[in-house]
Parts: sequence; C-alpha cells; structure tokens
Amino acid sequence: MKDRKLLMIPGPIEFDPAVLAALGAPTTSHVAPDFIEVFGQALERMREVFLCPDGQPFIMAGSGTLAMDLAGANLIEPGDKALVVNTGYFGDRYGTLLERYGAEVTHVRAPVGGCPALEEVEAALKTARFKLMTVTHVDTSTGVLTDVKALAALARQYDTLIVVDGVCSVAGEELRMTEWGVDLALTASQKAVGTPPGLALFVAGPRALAAFKARTKPVLNFYADWTNWLPVMEAYEARKVAYFGTPAVNLIAALNVSLGLILKEGMEARFARHRAIGEACRAAIAALGLGQVPLSPDIAAHTMTAPRFPAGIGAAELLPKVSAAGVMLAAGLHPAIRAEYFRIGHMGVVTQGDLLATIGALETGLAGCGYAFEKGAGVAAVMASLLV
Ligand code: PMP
Repeated sequence: MKDRKLLMIPGPIEFDPAVLAALGAPTTSHVAPDFIEVFGQALERMREVFLCPDGQPFIMAGSGTLAMDLAGANLIEPGDKALVVNTGYFGDRYGTLLERYGAEVTHVRAPVGGCPALEEVEAALKTARFKLMTVTHVDTSTGVLTDVKALAALARQYDTLIVVDGVCSVAGEELRMTEWGVDLALTASQKAVGTPPGLALFVAGPRALAAFKARTKPVLNFYADWTNWLPVMEAYEARKVAYFGTPAVNLIAALNVSLGLILKEGMEARFARHRAIGEACRAAIAALGLGQVPLSPDIAAHTMTAPRFPAGIGAAELLPKVSAAGVMLAAGLHPAIRAEYFRIGHMGVVTQGDLLATIGALETGLAGCGYAFEKGAGVAAVMASLLV
C-alpha cells in the first residue's frame, strides 16, 4: 500500500513529477547561459499564463504575501486612498498591508461567505478619489469567487488601479488581465501555477508601471523596490544578465517546466477543467448533505471548495480520518467561522481520479464519525457532474 497521501489542500498542491525533477536538478550559476534561457522563457510564459501581452512579469523569491507586499510598497505613497473589496481573511490582510505604507484604506465588506455587490463597490468609489483597489479573486478563507471582470470595468470607469490577489486563482480560474483591464495580478508558486512554495509571481500592466514611475517619494523597502528588480527582469527576458539579489535558480527552473505544461494544456482548456472539477466537487458536497461557506453557487470558486461540517463533527474528528484514508484536507481559516468548515483544494494538475479519491476518503471519514448519509452519494455525484 502506498504511504504517500494525496495533497488536496488549497496550496501547496500536488506537483507534476517533471516539475519536481527540474527542482532536483543540479543547481547552476544564475549567470550560466542555460539558466538565462530558462529565466527568460519563464518570464515570457508568465505573460501568456496571465493573458497580459503588454505586462511586465516579475519572478521573485518569496511567497504570495510578498507579491501582495510588493504591489503595496511600489504603488502606494503615504496619504493615497485605497479600496479593498473584502471577501475574507486575505482582504483583511491586504488592508493592513496597505496601511503600513501610509494608505487610507476603505473596506467594502460582505457577510462571511458573501461578496459585495457591484453597486456597493461603485458607491464606495464615488466617495473619494481612490488610487488603487484590491480584489481577492478567490479568498482562500471562504472559497468566494469575485467577478474580477466587472470590478475591473468599474475601476477603469473611476480611474482607479485594480490589483488582483490571484494567489488562489491564477492558472485555474478564468483571468484575462489585458482584456479585462486588470493592472496587476499576483500569485504564488505553490498554487495553481504548480511549483513548490518559494516564488512570488506577478505581472504589472502598463498603468501600474506608469503609477510606479510617477511616484514622488522613494519606495520605503529597499529589497521590494521595483527600481532594483525591473532591470533584472528586463535583462533576463532579453537573454542578458543583471544582478540585484540571487534568483531562486532551482525554483525558477521548476516554474519554467510548470508554465510550459500549463501552456501545453492551453489556458481555455485549463479554465474549463477547473470549472468542471470545481462544479463536480461542489455537487459531491451537496449530495453528502453538507453546506458550503459561499452563500450562493455563482460566487463559489472552482479552485477550492469550503464545505461546512455536519452538526457535532469538527476538524479534529474528521480530518485525521480522511487523512488515514489517504487524502490531506485543510481546516478552516476565517476567524469568524474557523471551527465550522474545512477546505478542499482542487487546482493545478488535479484530475478526475484525484477528486474521486478525495470524495471517497471524505465519505470514509464521515462514516467513521458516525455521520448518516447515503454511501457512495458523493462519488456518484462527481461522476454525474463530470459525465455530461
Ligand atoms: N492571498 C490568497 C488568496 C491566498 O490564498 C494566500 C495563501 N493561502 C495568500 C494571499 C498568501 O500567500 P502565501 O501564503 O504564499 O504568502
């Protein structure tokens, strides 16, 4: 029997063996010709994955929070007004982060599991001249999916930059930066991009770069300052070398392989696969009689699912039993409802087989907790949803 468990949390995820092999290859010099080619190619591929032909990609050592931080540090000057479209824990984090750089932050919130209506966001945009608006595409604490396309159109109308926290969405949920008018989208390697943790990834569009260049004061964090990194990204893409800080050579090699696999699948096919797997997972959860955190299906993510526990059962009872059945799931994260729900990640290289194994293990865990349900109903719902 295999002792390796299937990792079905909302990041890190399961990684393709070719990606892990690239990570384990001998480390080369960051100025070696073969690495220059790999870094240059990865930057070009980022543009394609983010669907942002006119954007500037950045690949930096760090996690998703660093990518959030870099956008804040470089785009905000003290006294700027920022609007946070808040759908959970990561909206709160973005607000706190922007305040650190001197922004006056306004949050547009919704009840937990909800998403602010466009009218509410527009009403807030009318109250002041906001330099920047942040939107969490999928808040990993609630599984709520926001309508980035509509929000970006609003931001354009009010001449406000739109920064999308796509940590739980990029390369999974449909996101079209240039077409939709998104000014900056960011993610982390360990999510749908499919590379082990350690890289902060983002693409800055022309308006974001112009706002950065129009700053009147220097960026307060030396390491974060795009002035230091922009020439590095431009150089590697031109197959030249520039140095500011040593790049994460092995992780970038692994990223390049993963981006290649993503583009081989194709972005449209990838969006469709995530949509199908996400819908099948939610169908399974409903068939098992469990509620879900998103208040309606139209605002539920396709990269993850946030099921509510049945009455009397919590993470401490259920998740170890699911793990014993071979699948790792995640506990709750949103402070207001942490004990009430758990999280299933299904992004990146996820397959029908992975989802069936996950729902099967969940059924095993629920049965072990004494929860009454029709055995096999979850697995059957996955197949009924996928076989259309
Ligand atoms: N934003 C969202 C939506 C996330 O899901 C996460 C990570 N779960 C982050 C930001 C922060 O990313 P990291 O943990 O890589 O710093």
